[in-house]
Amino acid sequence: MRKHLYPSQAGRVRFEPDLIRRYGGRGPRYTSYPTAVQFSDAFEVDVYRQNAGASNAAALPLSIYVHVPFCESLCYYCGCNKIVTRNQARVERYLECLHREIELQAELFDTTRLVEQLHFGGGTPTYLNRDQLAALMQKLDDEFGLDRTDRHEFSIEVDPRTVDYARIDELAGLGFNRLSLGVQDFNRAVQAAVNRIQSVAEVRGLVDKARQAGFHSISFDLIYGLPNQTATSFERTLDIVTSMRPDRLAVYNYAHLPERFKGQRMIDAAALPTANTKLDILHLCIDKLGDAGYEYIGMDHFALPDDDLVVARNQGTLQRNFQGYSTHRHTDLVGLGVSSIGSIGRVFTQNALTTGQYEKMLDDDRLPIAKGLSVDDDDHIRGEVIQELMCYDGVRFDAFGDAFGIDFRDYFASELERLTPLVDDGLVELDEASIAITPNGRLLMRSVAMVFDRYLAGEETQQFSKAI
Ligand code: SF4
Repeated sequence: MRKHLYPSQAGRVRFEPDLIRRYGGRGPRYTSYPTAVQFSDAFEVDVYRQNAGASNAAALPLSIYVHVPFCESLCYYCGCNKIVTRNQARVERYLECLHREIELQAELFDTTRLVEQLHFGGGTPTYLNRDQLAALMQKLDDEFGLDRTDRHEFSIEVDPRTVDYARIDELAGLGFNRLSLGVQDFNRAVQAAVNRIQSVAEVRGLVDKARQAGFHSISFDLIYGLPNQTATSFERTLDIVTSMRPDRLAVYNYAHLPERFKGQRMIDAAALPTANTKLDILHLCIDKLGDAGYEYIGMDHFALPDDDLVVARNQGTLQRNFQGYSTHRHTDLVGLGVSSIGSIGRVFTQNALTTGQYEKMLDDDRLPIAKGLSVDDDDHIRGEVIQELMCYDGVRFDAFGDAFGIDFRDYFASELERLTPLVDDGLVELDEASIAITPNGRLLMRSVAMVFDRYLAGEETQQFSKAI
């Protein structure tokens, strides 16, 4: 079992504006290593099939991600893979293909490998009506087998504007036990500027209802850096949010990239907060969430001490993955739906990025995998170092070296050398036995991880978002 390198400070984070200004530049978010930028369209689907077959020997449970791309209206800030439509025929066509994909994928895995973890993301999964969602859950159960024991963790992203109380009961009835609510900001001027109006009463009502319905964990997404936001306005949002006590919070930095995301062109750039205001808001988040009892998990994520993320961190089962942070580290991940990413054994795959391409491949009875990557030994070792840094704030050299058959100090001699400026600046502590990210360095943990990324060189970082 892992031990946190700073047991007394696990969950604590310190806001150091000078360090953030210097190290908060562009970089990968390390939801995987190697990152999706390295996935190649020359990847052969047979390699995926072979890995899936080989993975059956370990008989690990499965984790499944299902992407539902549809939305009823456009939130201007959105950078997700989504389709804004009211056309039910289009939805039915997509679902038909999704059902076919479930069949093709399920053929590859032993039926004893139950789905222990399931996440519906989007888009807006609750765009699907009761019958469509029930049919999808039934199909997953028929083809893969859904684990219904206490171990199961089935979560769904919910747009509060699209669900009523009866819907919450339906979701519970289908086996979902976690909800993730897109909140972003409660300020009306901010909501109007991003075309997403939802009231405090609406969200509070859903949270209360979900708790009554037995949902085990409720998570909120917030975004800072949106138009019309100020530190004062966001403080009010944080007060309301903490009064509702969501178990988890993800607080994302809005990246304004109108050349890449068309919808963002609807946002008045002059109304965006300045870099200094964004830093003030981030500082406020750190202080207020800490005061309200939330622990910093890492990379935008906070959780209450009794939440499973904190428990998993303390037990050594926390992982960084495509959903941010997650428990159930021991599972293989099957990605279903347009643009979904999977991770089976030593292979990453990504499905076709457009519904046209996705549906065409399934019409041809092909797995809709468009890109992928086979992870070699060096990738694997570096990926594990990055996992340790992002989840546990450090690496113990001997334990890590024993687990992977290397002498850590020899293998990473040049990386340890390159950590020197970060040591001098107080982001990390380095001695003969370990690397440990300090509370000052936790907001900048990806700067530490980047030292171990063999693919990063100069301008390549331009394609990644800013850390802060
Ligand atoms: S933020 Fe969510 S609901 Fe809004 S457009 Fe994007 S995916 Fe759809």
